[in-house]
Amino acid sequence: METGKPLISQERITAFQQDLLVWYQQNKRDLPWRKDQDPYKVWVSEIMLQQTKVATVVPYFERFMKKFPTLTDLANADEQEVLKQWEGLGYYSRARNLHQAVQEVRDEYGSKVPDQPEKIEKLRGIGPYTKGAILSIAFDQKQPAVDGNVMRVFSRWFELYQDIALPRTRVLMEQYAMEVIPETNPGDFNQALMELGATICTPTSPSCLLCPVQHVCQANQEGVQEDLPVKKKSKPPKETEVLFLAIHADGEILLEKRPDTGLLAGLWSLPTIEKTSEPFVDELIQEYCQGFPSSFTIKGEITNFEHIFSHRHWKIKVIEVELADKPNSLADSYQFCSHHSIQQIAFANVYAKAIQQIKANTGLLLVP
Ligand code: SF4
Repeated sequence: METGKPLISQERITAFQQDLLVWYQQNKRDLPWRKDQDPYKVWVSEIMLQQTKVATVVPYFERFMKKFPTLTDLANADEQEVLKQWEGLGYYSRARNLHQAVQEVRDEYGSKVPDQPEKIEKLRGIGPYTKGAILSIAFDQKQPAVDGNVMRVFSRWFELYQDIALPRTRVLMEQYAMEVIPETNPGDFNQALMELGATICTPTSPSCLLCPVQHVCQANQEGVQEDLPVKKKSKPPKETEVLFLAIHADGEILLEKRPDTGLLAGLWSLPTIEKTSEPFVDELIQEYCQGFPSSFTIKGEITNFEHIFSHRHWKIKVIEVELADKPNSLADSYQFCSHHSIQQIAFANVYAKAIQQIKANTGLLLVP
């Protein structure tokens, strides 16, 4: 089947709907965001679950709800406080977008999450999947919520060979979803689809014998479930040599705010030099440090390690640099931190790891 509506009879669709919903009611995992249909909680959980496993998200979600029990609490919070609660979950732009979006909901909609698709999709960080998840789960609306799990289930159930990495395939899947989502319980149905993909119809070795919709699954009947879904391999992440500088003076360490756009946007970090050409390490460091009024000494490499993001592969060296005196004033995008003040700052995993190594290998930033 190449395009168009699914060639599946209404009878099979009805069997799929009923069997999937019954299975879901009996087998759904007890997750904290499933205790009620509060749109704020559904929203936060869906943002946290993007590119992150359920088991990782549960403790974060519980801590987050304790700290910010209502949408207004989150909207009124300081951004650093929000990022600190997110620390370790990665993809920090999700937290920043969520924070800005709930502020918009507080200001524009009296702290009530709107239930109109055209309003909700304009909020920062809400794409087609999150819109569908919130509207169906929190507001019982028949809306498609097509994530990776759902694309996998549909590819197999409908036996589709379209590349799921292509945007047009997602659009097609949304059309298919509208064919199978029932008028009643659309939120449970969407969650059941995701749950089936996460626990039974898994990427490798799907548990077809335990599957509630096996008897109406096209791929299973053809014996091709292991060949689906089709996904073209993406390019491997680009390798770059990167220097992290542990510049310190008077027992405090220099932090630099990353640019407002791009990788780890707007987060505090160690001063970072991405080596794109040949200059020697010492020359790069000298160039970086020439703006400081006092003399500095390059003390050497503290550690090295690698970190892989979705599109980048950093090969990192952490270099210790000692400044004779701490500068009296710094631009807003720099600060010196003591062992105490650094604990209030949210770091991306790659910098948290480097700071841990700095503490372990140099004694810097340890409690005096
Ligand atoms: S029968 Fe197998 S391939 Fe088909 S939906 Fe169930 S788990 Fe997936």
